[in-house]
Amino acid sequence: MADLPDLRLHVTLAPVADLWARLSRGPQAVARRAALQALEALSGIVDERVVPQLLADRLTDRLQEAGGEALVREPMGWLLGRGLVQRQACADPRCDDGIRLDTGSDCPRCEDVVQVRRAWRSRITAEADERMPGADSAARRDVIEAGLRRRALIEAEDAAIRRAKAEAEQGRRQAACAAAEARVQTEHKFAAVAEALLQAEPCADCGAQRSGGLCEACGYRRETPCLAAEAGLITAAWSAALGDADDVQAVAAAVQAALPDYRQKALAMPARTPEAEAEARRAYATEQGRRQYRRDPDGPLAAAAARQAAEQARERTAHHLLATRLEQLRELERGRIAAATPRPRSERTD
Ligand SMILES: [Zn+2]
Ligand SMILES: [Zn+2]
Repeated sequence: MADLPDLRLHVTLAPVADLWARLSRGPQAVARRAALQALEALSGIVDERVVPQLLADRLTDRLQEAGGEALVREPMGWLLGRGLVQRQACADPRCDDGIRLDTGSDCPRCEDVVQVRRAWRSRITAEADERMPGADSAARRDVIEAGLRRRALIEAEDAAIRRAKAEAEQGRRQAACAAAEARVQTEHKFAAVAEALLQAEPCADCGAQRSGGLCEACGYRRETPCLAAEAGLITAAWSAALGDADDVQAVAAAVQAALPDYRQKALAMPARTPEAEAEARRAYATEQGRRQYRRDPDGPLAAAAARQAAEQARERTAHHLLATRLEQLRELERGRIAAATPRPRSERTD
C-alpha cells in the first residue's frame, strides 16, 4: 500500500490491504484504475470528501459477505467483480444494495419496489378469489402462492437480465482498460528492444561496433559528398604512407593540389549548420552594437559592417567545423588501416 501516492486510494483500499499485497505490479495497476473509476463514479453522487470512506465501507461490507480476505481466492477478480462494484438494486443510480449512497438511508425506489410487490400480491389474491369463489382456504392459498411464485420468477429473471447487462458492460470497460494497458506496456517493451538492437548494430559503412547502424562520422560523410571525396584522398594518402616514401610524396602532392577545390565545396555545408548560423548572428549583433553605430544601429553603415562581420564569423566557424570533421575522419582511417594491417610475426602473442 506504500506505493499508493493518492491519499484517496490509501483510505479506500485500507480494508483490502492483504488482498492488495497478493497482487503483482501489473494487476495492481489495473485494480488501481478500477478503484479510481469507482471513486470517480461516486464523486458524481456524494460529497467528494466522503467518497473514499464510502468506497472503503463498500469493500468492508462485501468482504464480510465473502467471509474475510483470507477466503477470497482471486483477489483481482473479486475486487473488479464484487468489491468495488456498485450493486444497484433498483433503477436509481444512487442505490447500492437497497441503501441510498447519498443519504445512507433505505432506498425509496427499492421501497417502491416493495410497494409494487404488495400491489401484485393483492392483485393475484383478487384474481384467485374471482376465479374460484367460495374455494376453501387451503386451495385458495395454494393458487395465490403459485401466482406469487410465478411473479417472483419473472422479477428475478428481469433482475438477472439487468444485472448481466450491467456486469457485461463493466467487464467490457475493464477488458478495454486492461487491453489498453497491456498494449502500452508491449509497445514500450518493443520500443526498448528495438532501440537496444539498433544501438547494438555496427556502422554500415565502417563497421564500427555499437553505432546504431551508422556512426556519426560516416553519417556526416554520407551527407557531404565533398567530404567523402576528401576522405578518399586522405585514405589514399594514409594507405600510401604504409608503402614506400616516393609513393607518399606523389600522393601527398596530388592531395595538396586537389584540396583547395574540395575544401571550397566542403565548406558550403558546415557554413549552413546551426552552429555557423548562431555564430553569424552573434557577430552581427556585436558589430551592430559598437559605439560608432550608436546613433543609427539600423543604418546602412552599421548594417554593412554587421553583415561583413557575420560572414567572417560564419566562414571561421565553417573552417573550424570542417577541420574537426576531417580530424575525426583521419582518426577513423588510422584506426581502420591499423586494424587491416597484419602485425609482424614477432609481435604476435597468439
Ligand atoms: Zn434502490
Ligand atoms: Zn561508421
